[in-house]
Order: sequence, then structure tokens, then C-alpha cells
Amino acid sequence: MADCTRYKRNLDICNCSYPGCSRKGNCCACLEYHRSRGEMVACYFPDDVEKTWDRSLRRFKETIS
Ligand code: SF4
Repeated sequence: MADCTRYKRNLDICNCSYPGCSRKGNCCACLEYHRSRGEMVACYFPDDVEKTWDRSLRRFKETIS
């Protein structure tokens, strides 16, 4: 794991429901991963949308409109 000094705090506020992800709490890696796929990260979605695991930009635009 990276030397993130906020790791514990990140875990405390993370709303991601995807089990077993090695990036959880490592927000830099989380953002890099989803950005490379043209997606947003879990914390940009309300819990009811996040739990669908659809992190697409299309879904994000629908969520905020
Ligand atoms: S949003 Fe994606 S990369 Fe980030 S913790 Fe959840 S499953 Fe992992």
C-alpha cells in the first residue's frame, strides 16, 4: 500500500460497497484506476447509485441532472 497518511480516515469516509478492492482507502490509486477507464469514483455517487457499481460518466451525468 502507498504511504498515504490519510489511509485510515479515507477508509472511514469511503462509501464504496465493492468488496475486496485493494484500492479502498488509497484514493490516489482509486482515482487513477477509474479515470483510466473513463469513470468516476464511488464517492461521487449517492449510496443508492454507488451500490449498482456503475461508475460511468453517463450515470454520473444522470445522477446530477
Ligand atoms: S471506487 Fe473502485 S477503485 Fe475505488 S475503492 Fe471502490 S472499487 Fe476500488
